[in-house]
Amino acid sequence: MYEVTNFINGKKITLTERKLDLFNPVSGEISGHVHVANAKTVDLAVQAAKEAFSSWSQTTPAQRTKILFQYKYLLDAQKENIAKIITQEHGKTLSEAMGSVQRGIDVVNFACGLSNSLKGSYASQVGTGVDSYSLHQPLGVCVGITPFNFPAMIPLWMFPMAIACGNTFVVKPSEKDPSCAMRLVELIKEAGLPDGVVNVVHGDKETVDALITHKDVKAVSFVGSSAVAEYVHHTAISHGKRAQAFGGAKNHCVVMPDADLDQAADALVTAGYDCAGERCMAISVVLAVGDEVADQLIEKIKHKISKIKIGPGMETGVQMGPLITKQHWEKVKSYIELGKQEGAKLVVDGSNDKPKDYKEGFFMGASLFDHVKPTMRIYREEIFGPVLSVVRVPDFHTALTLINEHEYGNGTAIFTRDGYIAHTFMEKVQVGMVGINVPVPVPVAYMSFGGWKRSIFADIGMYGQESIRFYTKLKTVTQRWMPGGEKWM
Ligand code: NAD
Repeated sequence: MYEVTNFINGKKITLTERKLDLFNPVSGEISGHVHVANAKTVDLAVQAAKEAFSSWSQTTPAQRTKILFQYKYLLDAQKENIAKIITQEHGKTLSEAMGSVQRGIDVVNFACGLSNSLKGSYASQVGTGVDSYSLHQPLGVCVGITPFNFPAMIPLWMFPMAIACGNTFVVKPSEKDPSCAMRLVELIKEAGLPDGVVNVVHGDKETVDALITHKDVKAVSFVGSSAVAEYVHHTAISHGKRAQAFGGAKNHCVVMPDADLDQAADALVTAGYDCAGERCMAISVVLAVGDEVADQLIEKIKHKISKIKIGPGMETGVQMGPLITKQHWEKVKSYIELGKQEGAKLVVDGSNDKPKDYKEGFFMGASLFDHVKPTMRIYREEIFGPVLSVVRVPDFHTALTLINEHEYGNGTAIFTRDGYIAHTFMEKVQVGMVGINVPVPVPVAYMSFGGWKRSIFADIGMYGQESIRFYTKLKTVTQRWMPGGEKWM
């Protein structure tokens, strides 16, 4: 049994009575507890960050970069150990966890070069003898509330960018896998970050509410499900904060008759079932254009599913680990039952697949539905598990209309060899991140991440240039110097 406590002002702190259970998803057993920060503990963290802000915001960008470089070096060296913490608590395979840590390190890399983007702009002679310049100033204490599915990557989307801009930070990781964030902040302390600049508080709604309504918090970044994202965004802005809240997804992939179907099937299996489908950029709907495409894809995907090895994420050769909790397992299972009741054809039912030595673990194999209709709940709602739905459509325009009418707009993809169709898709699709023969089009660290519609509550993306806009305030100065000192000239 282990205990996960809060990290405030550079120290691990336990002040709260309430604890939540942590589970080993492989065995299904309780493996530890996480301490829930109440309003008093949240206040301590925010005050530590507020106090640290006065000196950190005055630290030169060059000095901040030096610490971030050292942090990047430590993260590189510790990548596998961080990934192991993720695999043990979250369940995903070690190689999936390593890949996600690398995605986070990429953002730290980008943050190391931020001085250039923070230098502002200057215009001389905007009037006679008048010059104007603008600068980006930090906001103060910023908060990051993160989901369970990427316990290193998503916190790393947030705090390195925020502190590179001169802010201080409080992270509230998912209460389901909180240990990784602790390692991330221990390492940044080791890299030389002054105490109080980044703090971690743990908990659930109680902790989140205390953070997003706290009078000294200036900005809130949130990633999680849409209902909570909407609530956090609304509450934070009504308390005067700047807020960006990223929500759920139902990502569609269109497969055109001219596509390379072997390549598309390979891509769909990875995009649908990697990380057991617990990815906001996972493909969960295939829009097969024409029955012939649908029939062929189903055969190919079915064959590939039969080869996916399920088991503990630490074991070599395992391709799919368990789901995060029993509760989540039950939710995914209930959607599979619902799909059958709604009249979809369950081509592969993986819902009861468990490795033989781990019957109590939260394992589930890959499932595949055919003949899914847009009116069905399994089409409309986010399942967030290893379930792929095939919707048969007669043509490209029907596929495009379905995507555009869906309430979510995080990611989408098309497989085709036709440049005109690909271009029309890119131009007309109402989705934030688009792949053309690329199934999971997550932008790299120097671009920015962000969906549309109910996948985002804000008008600003995460990491890349968008983060600089989010974590700074623009100040524009117009200056004129009067004559009068000529006697010294
Ligand atoms: P979640 O919404 O349950 O939890 C996210 C965070 O909100 C956690 O820190 C949690 O403690 C907190 N929280 C939960 N309920 C709350 C409440 N009622 N009030 C205040 N705070 C609350 O999400 P999850 O299950 O951890 O993560 C999965 C979801 O995240 C999926 O919907 C997935 O699509 C989404 N997600 C989105 C993105 C994106 O970039 N759009 C990325 C990753 C995950």
